[in-house]
Amino acid sequence: VDNGFELNEFDDICDVYIINTCSITEVSDAKSRKIIRQAIKRNPNAIIAVMGCYAQLKPQDIQGIEGVDVIVGTNNRHLLYDLVINAMKSKDQSMIVEDIFKVKQYEEIKLKRYNNKTRGFIKIQDGCNNLCSYCTIPYARGTVRSRHHKDIVDEIQILTDQGMKEIVLTGINTASYGQDFKDYDFADLLLEIITNVKGLGRLRISSIEVTEVTDKILKVISENKEKFCHHFHIPLQGGTDKTLERMHRKYNIDFYKAKIKQVREIFPDVNITTDVLTGFCGETDQDFQDTCNLIKEIGFGELHVFPYSRRPETVAYNYPDQVNEITKHIRVNELLRINEDIALNYRNKFLDKPVEVIVEKVHNGVAYGHSSNYLEVEFKGNVKPNELVNVRVVEVGYPKSKGVIA
Ligand code: SF4
Repeated sequence: VDNGFELNEFDDICDVYIINTCSITEVSDAKSRKIIRQAIKRNPNAIIAVMGCYAQLKPQDIQGIEGVDVIVGTNNRHLLYDLVINAMKSKDQSMIVEDIFKVKQYEEIKLKRYNNKTRGFIKIQDGCNNLCSYCTIPYARGTVRSRHHKDIVDEIQILTDQGMKEIVLTGINTASYGQDFKDYDFADLLLEIITNVKGLGRLRISSIEVTEVTDKILKVISENKEKFCHHFHIPLQGGTDKTLERMHRKYNIDFYKAKIKQVREIFPDVNITTDVLTGFCGETDQDFQDTCNLIKEIGFGELHVFPYSRRPETVAYNYPDQVNEITKHIRVNELLRINEDIALNYRNKFLDKPVEVIVEKVHNGVAYGHSSNYLEVEFKGNVKPNELVNVRVVEVGYPKSKGVIA
């Protein structure tokens, strides 16, 4: 934007399209290809730049699409501008896709402005060292590279000074932050943010692996309760010990339940949300039933449900006992049905209770936002975006509940 470009919608006729691709499942790959083709069709003379995980994992697929001018993987994104300018001069295709496992430094890209006014997403690390047997992410993003803590604190201070009342810490495996440092970890970072950012609003951790819910982190959270959102997204993925082991997840169900108990001791009203992968190799009807029972027993506030997708880069690709697609489909639907029930059960606890909502949008006198424990609430009132409002929940719904200003 600083160089004379204007930010437009994807549906507009643009001179340059930058397509940031995903490759988490086969469906994501197909969607990425579809969007690239849509952009080329919309303006055949436009510069088409493709970046992200699909570009990193399958650059040759993208090279083969006529009309793509620039391909950048998950590193060297700072070169994108120069590559686009060069492509405007000569129409030759250029590609920079490095061996991501050789990249050992976090690629710092400074944020200059931020369009979302209520929630500031701050990326703190890239990569993942876990190598779960079903997951392509480490092959697309490489090993853990953590951002310098000073850059993180500075960026949070800038956004806080701009009036942002909520900061969300994100990454590929967010709480693995610091695994590439000798003596500084995620708990140290949380403490530094809380201590050093002046006027800090509420702090949300986008996702945390259960193995990273350490005593040190729990101590920081429990000693600074007022700073943390009462919401933790802790991926479960598999619902039995057998499945977790074959997924190469490094915990069992008892460990997971014990950690949830510890978090609930700090925040009795906490919203624990999770990811569940179903139809993983060898998942029998009984395993699936056990998973459903476990989900109800834990009482999550929301599930993100994914069918297992067989990915050639991964260990599980060669597992012999793949589950058929129809069974996966049935299990996904059953989990989505359970999600409706458990989400309402959790939300019912807040009926007639006040929750603190940051207003995200106001339309025709109806305001909309999220609470600290991530309830979506709408209510009437003369309020403005980014205001922090106490709202009493009067009608529970999922995803949205209704409230009145308390
Ligand atoms: Fe993938 Fe998450 Fe496992 Fe890392 S921890 S390999 S990102 S599923």
